[in-house]
Order: sequence, then C-alpha cells, then structure tokens
Amino acid sequence: MFFFIGGIQPKTVTLDETPKVCPSCGLQQAKLKRIDHYFSLFFIPLFRVKKGEPVLMCENCNFVASPDQAEALTHIAHRTKQYCPSCGYVLDPSFNYCPRCGTKV
Ligand SMILES: [Zn+2]
Ligand SMILES: [Zn+2]
Repeated sequence: MFFFIGGIQPKTVTLDETPKVCPSCGLQQAKLKRIDHYFSLFFIPLFRVKKGEPVLMCENCNFVASPDQAEALTHIAHRTKQYCPSCGYVLDPSFNYCPRCGTKV
C-alpha cells in the first residue's frame, strides 16, 4: 500500500488584521495576507518552501489581488462613480456624452 504522506501545502498567514475596503464588493472585509508554501510530512508543516507575496483577500467575496492592484482598483472604483447631471445615469469617465439622454458631461 502506498500512502501519500508528504507534500507541499499552502499556509495562509494574516499580515494585517485591520480590514480594508474590498475593491470588488465594496465591503470592509479584505485583509492583507500571504500564502506560504510548506513542505509537510504527516500533515505537519516542516519547513517553508516558498514565501508568498502579500495579497489582499476579501473574506466576503473571495477576491484576491496584490496590494498595488487592489489600490488601483479602488481608485478606478472611485473615479467611475460619476453620474449624469441630467438623468442620474452612471457614467464611465471616458464618456463625453450620457448614453441615455445625450447630455454633454
Ligand atoms: Zn469583496
Ligand atoms: Zn443622462
């Protein structure tokens, strides 16, 4: 009989317990974490094989991004919150005219 008893297992480390706003769902449930890979034997992590990069993980929607990406996305999310002054339609910042009523923005 062969049992697979050793292998590489991921281990999630929380780097910052302070929740941050998730760029995906908008809830303040994203935490800075790091996924390290450990070589484990009999399910006991023996040593770290690979140190992961810090990532922002949302506990609500499982969104994962690097802190830089998350910051950029949050930025975009803020920027895109633009509304037509005439009809209130949500506009993309690249639009010059409202696609619904044609008002110049
Ligand atoms: Zn989220
Ligand atoms: Zn409009």
